[in-house]
Amino acid sequence: MKKTGVCPKCGSLDVYNNSNQRAELRRVLQIKNPKAIFGRGSFLVSYICLNCGYVEDYLTEKDLEKRRDIIKNTWTK
Ligand SMILES: [Zn+2]
Repeated sequence: MKKTGVCPKCGSLDVYNNSNQRAELRRVLQIKNPKAIFGRGSFLVSYICLNCGYVEDYLTEKDLEKRRDIIKNTWTK
C-alpha cells in the first residue's frame, strides 16, 4: 500500500496518505520503555483506501530507528 499505492484488500488505487501533514495531526502509537516514566509517542503516517476503508500505519524512518531497540527488547516476535 505504501510502496504500490494499491489497496491490498480490494485492489483499489484510491489510496491516500497523510505524510504531508504536521506530525501532531497524525495518529500516535505509544512505544515506550517500561522503565522510563516520560516519553512521547510516535506519530504515524497512515494510508487509507477510500474504496473499502482499509487503513495501514507506518512509523517514520526516524522513529523506526529511534524505537528499534525498545521494540526488540520489550515486544514479542
Ligand atoms: Zn481497499
